[in-house]
Amino acid sequence: MYSIYDFTKEKLENFFLSKGEKKFKATQIYEWLYDKRINSFDEMSNVSKNTIDLLKENFEIKRLTLLTSIKGNDCEKFLFELTDKNRIEAVLMYHDYGKSLCISTEVGCNMGCVFCESGRLKKVRNLTPSEMVLQILQIEELVKERITHVVLMGIGEPFDNYDNVIDFINIINDPKGINIGSRHITISTCGLIPKIKDFSHFDKQVNLAISLHAPNNEIRDRLMPINKVYKIEELIGTIKEYIKLTNRRVTFEYIMLDGINDSVENAIQLSNLLKGMNAYVNLIPYNETSNGFKKSKKENVMKFYDTLKKNNINVTIRREFGSNLGAACGQLRANYKEEE
Ligand code: SAH
Repeated sequence: MYSIYDFTKEKLENFFLSKGEKKFKATQIYEWLYDKRINSFDEMSNVSKNTIDLLKENFEIKRLTLLTSIKGNDCEKFLFELTDKNRIEAVLMYHDYGKSLCISTEVGCNMGCVFCESGRLKKVRNLTPSEMVLQILQIEELVKERITHVVLMGIGEPFDNYDNVIDFINIINDPKGINIGSRHITISTCGLIPKIKDFSHFDKQVNLAISLHAPNNEIRDRLMPINKVYKIEELIGTIKEYIKLTNRRVTFEYIMLDGINDSVENAIQLSNLLKGMNAYVNLIPYNETSNGFKKSKKENVMKFYDTLKKNNINVTIRREFGSNLGAACGQLRANYKEEE
């Protein structure tokens, strides 16, 4: 049985039409789910008994189980259990411009990036749209505040779960849904080219972030297995085309790894690669785990930054969140033994 939170408004409209009911019921149901935030179909007081029975026959309205949460100064991490006992995490970050939630899109991940802790658990399955939607709904309920920004940068590769991710975005962006503006939503991908192409035909101005992490194939091959399938030139070519078609914002994420990708020469290579593109580079301080990679020294990050600037590349250095919580990027793990 589907969760009611799996359905975009359009799918719900089609459901009602297929049952000989009026399309507007979908909007009515959406208001109960996402505006009034009820927990059971019986609370939908202006909906007819017949319609409620129809909903009960066809949908569940269950929530995720919150196992634990940990709060730091500037972020809070939540661990949820799904109905099949798999576990996922989400991290809420407090920025001066609002509250941004980093959500998981899969149980595990198959991309195998060597620096990433989250990817050590192989993909078990895709998350359904409802499992992504409920991360937002339930965290808003828990902290009693509205989430203003959503980033798909938790566990999983969003473009390896494309259809569910698209439904999820349609649900949270719907004015009658959670109503998060498309420019406040960012999808991060390691670069699945066919899906980037599909995404250029998606009709919303959602931000795209590309996990680049290297200025050439030699380094990227060592860090990210996906580069063996889609070479860096092909990736950059696809992004140029994507920007031309969509005019949307693209960010390149670049983790700074000591002695691996952080030399001035690497910065020059990166500048040449991205020259003339209307894009941003986000330099990411690496969160160290037990895999041996070290974060770049501050002075090397600054030299790298200056070199990009000098070459007219838009660049920012990412603020660090949650490194003391095991909640930082690449540190999310599905199995928190110590919390059992
Ligand atoms: N699979 C998607 C989204 C998840 S990763 C992607 O690859 O983009 C989100 C971001 O966190 C990526 O840029 C990833 O490379 C980065 N990341 C992974 N491990 C990290 C670590 N230990 N420190 C800092 N960033 C990390």
